[in-house]
Amino acid sequence: MGMFDTIYFDKPYYCPKCRTRIDSTQTKAFEQTLANFYMTDCVSHAEEIRVVKEELFCNKCSEFTGQYVYIAVFRGILVGVADSLIEARYMLNDMNLEKLLLWYHDLYKNYDKKVRENESILRFMRNVVEWFEQGRHVKKKGKKAGIDHIVFLFDREYLKKAKDPLDAIKRFLAARQKEKKERDVFE
Ligand SMILES: [Zn+2]
Repeated sequence: MGMFDTIYFDKPYYCPKCRTRIDSTQTKAFEQTLANFYMTDCVSHAEEIRVVKEELFCNKCSEFTGQYVYIAVFRGILVGVADSLIEARYMLNDMNLEKLLLWYHDLYKNYDKKVRENESILRFMRNVVEWFEQGRHVKKKGKKAGIDHIVFLFDREYLKKAKDPLDAIKRFLAARQKEKKERDVFE
């Protein structure tokens, strides 16, 4: 079995046989890295302008549906999914610099968010190692707060109550989950 990427649709399709919702299609047209792509994501190289044809697969029927989608890629960016080649070409013709710039802004914002998330996870991991290697979890209370508090500033709340590294990780993950839930309410 080869590798593929998954492209998620903005609007779902439905299996013509059983009416099961089809939210995505697999494709081997791009990098084939088992990546998940959504509309306006960057799927391939900047010089690529093309339409990729894929047959929809129904997971419930476990077979191809005979229904095709046409995925429009402009300058390596997923522009949209159409029911016909003509419609997909129209999507490509409709692209302009203004649209691309706005999308680029959104992409960059998302990228920046991911980088920050990644950094905070790395920092947390480093802090967990230091905290427990230095035996801070067993140190007596009443010691003067100093520079250490700044070093562990962002992760102190997970570290100070944790009895071991596993406990610290669980607290960190729980806080992330809570943040995500709160974000989802607003989005
Ligand atoms: Zn089906």
